[in-house]
Amino acid sequence: MKKALITGITGQDGSFLTELLLKKGYEVAGFIRSNSTGSLGNVTHLRDELQFYRGSLDDERSIEEALMDFKPDEIYNLGAEAAPFDSFRRPVYTSDINALGPLRVFEAAHRLQKSLDKKIKIYQASTSEMFGAPTEIPQNENTSFKPNNPYGVAKLFAHYNARILREGTQNMFICCGILFNHESPRRGMQYVTRKVTVAVACIVNKVKDPPLNELGEPIITSDWKIQMGNLDAKRDWGYAKEYVEAMQIMMQQDKPDDFVIATGETHSIKDLLEAAFSHVGLNWEDHVITNPSLVRPLETGPLCGNAEKAKKVLGWEPKTSFKQLVGLMVDSDLAKFS
Ligand code: NAP
Repeated sequence: MKKALITGITGQDGSFLTELLLKKGYEVAGFIRSNSTGSLGNVTHLRDELQFYRGSLDDERSIEEALMDFKPDEIYNLGAEAAPFDSFRRPVYTSDINALGPLRVFEAAHRLQKSLDKKIKIYQASTSEMFGAPTEIPQNENTSFKPNNPYGVAKLFAHYNARILREGTQNMFICCGILFNHESPRRGMQYVTRKVTVAVACIVNKVKDPPLNELGEPIITSDWKIQMGNLDAKRDWGYAKEYVEAMQIMMQQDKPDDFVIATGETHSIKDLLEAAFSHVGLNWEDHVITNPSLVRPLETGPLCGNAEKAKKVLGWEPKTSFKQLVGLMVDSDLAKFS
């Protein structure tokens, strides 16, 4: 039985990956932040099948202790300050968690590997945000990086350190998945796709006490409108459940490598609004107002990934279309917010 340790297990990807690994017969442990409520987020339903270690990616000792005790065969480092917009407000903390955090994981894994004399495989969650303002369209593993926010810069630091440890005499097995945006009903509400699908549900169901947006204000104004930032930003959006499959396949290869995981299709925020509102028969233009404070100081994109290498080497391809993805998220939120 293979043993996998997942950081960020309570998040969107962590929970889908946990379900996948348990189905494949893995023993799974989660590295989770200590908090007063003890919330297990998206893996609450799996709590009896998992082992947990408490700690944080800014706490070297907690990482070391978890690794030394669990002795994983595979480590999936998904934990992160994962919202690019927030990283403008917290660049130093974001860097500690997203840049130094992975390095702490790599170093602890290297020490464990030496003490056990066995190879430990690591998956590092890299991101299309590292391309920032891309120098070419579509982007692949050889496109140069030019991140446009502290989140992307911090992830790039980790991405480069992974390559150094892989290609240097340490000879570590570290795969980096350069994943483009991927969404699901488990996406946090601080991300634009989920914010839109929750807002649509609150409008349709006339929810009186809607959840709060990233400004700490109700996600829907009193006249049933949603506040948005840059409507022209363009992203490549796929379905998270399919993207975690690519992570696991990468880790079964004989050699570690980097892979772009994407749909190859680009849509604007306007397209997202159109897809979500038309799914329930509404016109998005009747329900959207723009707020300059929700516009990023420096925009990323247009993002469009070329996942040919993943298709050829891993046999991985996306299946869910943009319209299907938005539809399934709206349907899920219509049931949740009623
Ligand atoms: P998510 O839902 O926001 O989950 C982030 C996870 O990181 C949560 O479990 C969170 O734990 C954990 N975390 C945050 N700070 C931590 C710390 N100091 N120590 C340990 N854990 C910490 O993000 P996601 O969408 O699943 O993304 C997973 C990974 O893929 C992230 O590294 C993200 O940057 C990367 N990525 C995501 C996308 C995407 O479109 N989803 C694209 C490219 C790359 P709490 O429950 O305690 O908050």
